[in-house]
Amino acid sequence: METSLDSTQSVAIDSGLGPLLSKNASIVHLSSAAPRWSDFAAPAPGTVVNVFTEKDVAETVKYCIANNITFLAQSGAHGWATTFRIGQQDVTINLRGLNTVTFDQCNEASPTITLGGGSIISEVIAVADANGAHVPTGNCNCVGALGAILGGGVGHLMGLYGLGVDNLVTLNLVNAEGELLTINPAQHPDLWWALRGAGPNFGIVTSATIKAYPRADRSVWTGSLIFTPDKIEQIVSTINDLPLLAPMSIFLYFATSGAPNYTPTVVVAPFYAGPTSDAETAFASILALGPVVNAMQRYPYTQANFANDPLCGKGGRKPSYGSGLSQMDPATWRSIWNEYVSYVANPAVGNSSVFAECYSFETAKQFPDSSSSYPFRSTIKYTTLVNNWYTDASLDPVAEAFGIKIRELWRSTDGLKENSTYINFAFGDEPLETVYGDNVGKLQDLKRKYDPRGRFNQWFPLT
Ligand SMILES: Cc1cc2nc3c(=O)[nH]c(=O)nc-3n(C[C@H](O)[C@H](O)[C@H](O)COP(=O)(O)OP(=O)(O)OC[C@H]3O[C@@H](n4cnc5c(N)ncnc54)[C@H](O)[C@@H]3O)c2cc1C
Repeated sequence: METSLDSTQSVAIDSGLGPLLSKNASIVHLSSAAPRWSDFAAPAPGTVVNVFTEKDVAETVKYCIANNITFLAQSGAHGWATTFRIGQQDVTINLRGLNTVTFDQCNEASPTITLGGGSIISEVIAVADANGAHVPTGNCNCVGALGAILGGGVGHLMGLYGLGVDNLVTLNLVNAEGELLTINPAQHPDLWWALRGAGPNFGIVTSATIKAYPRADRSVWTGSLIFTPDKIEQIVSTINDLPLLAPMSIFLYFATSGAPNYTPTVVVAPFYAGPTSDAETAFASILALGPVVNAMQRYPYTQANFANDPLCGKGGRKPSYGSGLSQMDPATWRSIWNEYVSYVANPAVGNSSVFAECYSFETAKQFPDSSSSYPFRSTIKYTTLVNNWYTDASLDPVAEAFGIKIRELWRSTDGLKENSTYINFAFGDEPLETVYGDNVGKLQDLKRKYDPRGRFNQWFPLT
């Protein structure tokens, strides 16, 4: 059983680390876990160090190493990996104070944005929009911008601009010695490669510079289409056949209407970064399937992620299981619907959903597989997730069994040579090859070189 932090240890951290930190930084000792997106298998540190400068991060890492304390960086707190092993004796380094985002206009034609290691997605989009530009991010405003990018970084705009990792220009990193390094293709090229796909295994990124794309009309066409369940096979095969052009993405959700009835519902959410007339042409085959509700409209860029805001809420138990697909199989999705309907008949799990995210890889595929440690740009076409959501821990076994069953269904017709999962959507029980693909050996070699004592071993650890 985990023992709680005793007062001697608290005093030692306060007096040993406290004087080394900047004036805004703080050290907080907790008796119960701090809020995270999911309480399932969540890190439950006894101490949180709220850092505000890059030096604060470096000092905290050095202190933890010197005192043999296990630590975990946290920015958006949305990581649900079951690989975290953080308890009362351990430290979370809360990066949220490092949330400065600046637009760098040195070169008007190709500007960049520099974001602090704890910035969340809404903060990065707000700065891009205020400066007349798009920036590649994930689709949920509350998620750590770098938390998402360091695993690859998929999002609605990736058809136009590529993955998050394809757009990084330079990174500031606190490494496994607590040193602050600048990492880019010219300096530390092997860490540059490893950090862009397996980032949290190699250090804490205190700030990053990423490309931004000037664009006069940044608004998007998005929303939801609701279909009757008899259309599932047609929807799935239409998505499978849909040419996903650069401005497009499309999600398929099995969700419920929410309290009090929790009626299972089939929702399709297309997205188009361009004129409505072009969007309607691009998605004509989907629209022709006859949704019973059509709630598509134009949104300003700053509201492009609005539909996902309900997914942002912290708390509750959300063991989530993902799988990559190279094809969408109608019969599989029918079986998944049947399983889903039975599952959410229990209102206690009625907020759970199952979905596929379908992005255009048009630009991402222009970058060679070897350009970063993100392993699946040529293979995974669709990313899927079972997003369990409930509060009663006694439902864990039922939720886990459901997640595993749906993942098995996806895997059975994934069309891939090997089961593969986008690491940011993985559960935590996958073999390393499933999340790191063919890069496992090279990543492990680099891990031995740059973090031989396994200081950064919380997130899908390589050792
Ligand atoms: C509601 C929701 C929506 C999502 N949408 C998307 C999406 O659109 N696109 C996408 O690609 N992913 C998406 N994800 C997955 C998400 O990218 C991962 O869960 C990611 O790890 C969360 O990052 P975080 O900073 O919020 O979480 P945290 O729990 O704070 O961090 C997750 C991991 O990243 C590490 N980390 C965080 N910041 C840093 C840093 N600065 N330096 C080094 N390591 C760091 C942490 O140590 C931890 O190991 C979504 C997740 C949720 C829950």
